[in-house]
Amino acid sequence: MNHLEEIRSKISIEELVGSYVQLKKAGRNFRGLCPFHGEKTPSFMVSPEKQIAYCFGCNQGGDIFKFTQLVESCDFPEALKMLADKAGVTLPKTSPKESNKRFKTVEINEIAVNFFQEELEKNEKYKKYFLDRGLTAPTIKEFQLGYAPDSFNALKTRLKEKGVTDREMLDAGVVNQKDMADQNTYDRFRHRLIFPIYDHQKNPVAFGGRIIDQGEPKYLNSPDTPAYNKSMVLYGLHLAKDAVKEKDMAIFVEGYMDVIASHQAGVKNVIATSGTAMTEQQLKLIKRYTKNIALAFDQDSAGMEATMRAIELAELAELNIKIVQIGEKDPDECIKEDPDTWIKATENPVSVMDFYFAYANSKHDKETMEGKKGIMSIILPIIKLIPSEVEQGAHLNRLSVEIKTDVKLLWNDLNKTQTQKTYAPEKGQVVAEAKPLSYNREQYLLGFILKFPEFYKIVAENLIENIGADPVTETFYKTMKSVYTLEGPLDVDALKAALEAGEREKVDIYSLLIDEKYPDFSEEAAEKEIRSLVRSINQKNIKQVQKQVELSIRGANTAEEKTQLLNKYNEILKLATKVN
Ligand SMILES: [Zn+2]
Repeated sequence: MNHLEEIRSKISIEELVGSYVQLKKAGRNFRGLCPFHGEKTPSFMVSPEKQIAYCFGCNQGGDIFKFTQLVESCDFPEALKMLADKAGVTLPKTSPKESNKRFKTVEINEIAVNFFQEELEKNEKYKKYFLDRGLTAPTIKEFQLGYAPDSFNALKTRLKEKGVTDREMLDAGVVNQKDMADQNTYDRFRHRLIFPIYDHQKNPVAFGGRIIDQGEPKYLNSPDTPAYNKSMVLYGLHLAKDAVKEKDMAIFVEGYMDVIASHQAGVKNVIATSGTAMTEQQLKLIKRYTKNIALAFDQDSAGMEATMRAIELAELAELNIKIVQIGEKDPDECIKEDPDTWIKATENPVSVMDFYFAYANSKHDKETMEGKKGIMSIILPIIKLIPSEVEQGAHLNRLSVEIKTDVKLLWNDLNKTQTQKTYAPEKGQVVAEAKPLSYNREQYLLGFILKFPEFYKIVAENLIENIGADPVTETFYKTMKSVYTLEGPLDVDALKAALEAGEREKVDIYSLLIDEKYPDFSEEAAEKEIRSLVRSINQKNIKQVQKQVELSIRGANTAEEKTQLLNKYNEILKLATKVN
């Protein structure tokens, strides 16, 4: 038994999911509210028989490993480790290739962190930069700040001495290559102040390099590597997580220096995104520690936009969001001037609405028509983001008093207001909003066959092939046909074995789909449904081909071609009467 199977044998899906979600028995399965998207009627199914959990509302789920990855927002190696701990299974030392690469990258970064720190110690001039900005020596050490010397091969030489190959350095993102043809590599970070970026498990996964003199870019970050996905890492979380739990609040700031200065001032529940706008994965990560976040972003237009986006994402992630109000300064400057102002502001974050009302009033004169319009243009898009109409109404009332305008008119304007949908799920990103899913007939038929394999015969005998194949399920139907022996039920295990990994997993999901949409369907009812689905798929396909041939007849150039097509058309008509 390998370790994956051993873990599977010790942790059941129902027990695992049950520790996150309240489950109710539903026939052979369990049903609960989906942990991946907000829903009021449960469409999250757990099958003890198939050992999978799947939501037919947002189309996400899988076995215990996939479920853990989704619910804990972690990658496979992390999920494996968590479940192995839970099951008391010792993992073998030799891990798969990908995690080896990740491990190697972290190892290389560890050498680089030490190297950059040594270089900073050697160069008083650059250490002075941090000291001048108010950081103490212990803080510089705690955050492992460093300096990358003005050289194309200083770090490279150190890594070579330690036996690291060029390929490994490239994979880790610490060196660069001009182009594929030019095999020469050189240090990515040169003459920059270095901020090592750690993941929440205290692994150095990347670097941020700040320029020392003038120039672009101001910050240079590591590329994504086997150890670093910038949309999933929060800067400073490894040092902040205890404080975040304790205060039940995470404060988001914009820059590395803001995080560090805040820690030094004693406010330790502070983190930053690194080299990216806030992402949904980052919010999922923080949700493991708290449901409350506060934003302390700049008040320039970029900062305001970032705040808007964060509010929108936080609503979707069902996090409570507040704003730390410190005026025009950024946290780093504010702390340097007077740490108490920062401490007080973080202890008393204001509501999103209070913040925007204060901001709008500071920007516009509410006594003038122009000013009223300006205030509305700031407040209405925010109100529009709020899902509850009751809540919207309360804020509109407040606005109507504030700018002395009839609330009915404000409702009109609100309805006309466009929100700038800043939120667009990136590829491969988990979608938080439930999308109404529609499965097509071919998928339902597939589900029925997989649940009632004895009825595959009906499909084998009656489904007309070679016309209008459905691209979503084509492989399944072809593979079923290839494994079917013309007698007895379809061998589902043989089907699974013949499918590719990505499709194989869907076999159980399609079968579970029937449990979810047609609970308690008897064999008799299933057979009837299968016959009716086969009929309607045939009809749909024939109609499609009929139309195509009609078009070709009209476009036929020669009489001969036309006769041929007409013959074909007659055959199709014959088929059509047969399947009706
Ligand atoms: Zn869901």
